[in-house]
Amino acid sequence: MGDLQNVCVFLGSSTGSNPAIANATEALGRELAARNMNLVYGGGAVGLMGLLADTVLKGGGEVTGIIPRNLFSREVAHRDLTELIETEGMHERKALMYERSDAFIALPGGLGTLDELAEVLTWRQIGLHNKPVGLVDVDGYFEALEAWFDRVVADGLLSNNNRQMLVSDPDPATLLASLSEQQQAPTAKWD
Ligand code: AMP
Repeated sequence: MGDLQNVCVFLGSSTGSNPAIANATEALGRELAARNMNLVYGGGAVGLMGLLADTVLKGGGEVTGIIPRNLFSREVAHRDLTELIETEGMHERKALMYERSDAFIALPGGLGTLDELAEVLTWRQIGLHNKPVGLVDVDGYFEALEAWFDRVVADGLLSNNNRQMLVSDPDPATLLASLSEQQQAPTAKWD
């Protein structure tokens, strides 16, 4: 089992107003490039998505964008990626992002980010994949979500084992190290 090669990142298509979030986005991009990991993401040129892709490319890294044809206007797709794949719709796009990646990271984002994060966790819960999933918890951004997960465990609607699927760290480099470790752990076998 190799190290992480393709890392899929979910993050905002807006830039938002918190500079700590943009800083963490750039920090993750620099880490991916420095470790020769390829970025797989939603293919947008806008917001935090565009910032992350630009940072990885600037650091000499490779970026694959996967974007639905005709859903986002053409000027929103990033035109300078290593590879841009167009899909027929959102479902095909998400399935391809998950298939092409060895691990998943969520940075701060909105509903699209939450959708993708919840989906990869659900798919892992039911055994469709066994790839590590982590959060870059910038400035406590995901604290409320994690508190909700704990509540779900307390009420018996999520097993503690499945709760542990999700790792979280404020520092992108530390998070990448935990995800690599989890991938190589004997319990983290591929399906
Ligand atoms: P949100 O968190 O609502 O801004 O949505 C961001 C997530 O949804 C990203 O990880 C993308 O996969 C997808 N997405 C939303 N808007 C766009 C866009 N304009 N271009 C490409 N992907 C997008």
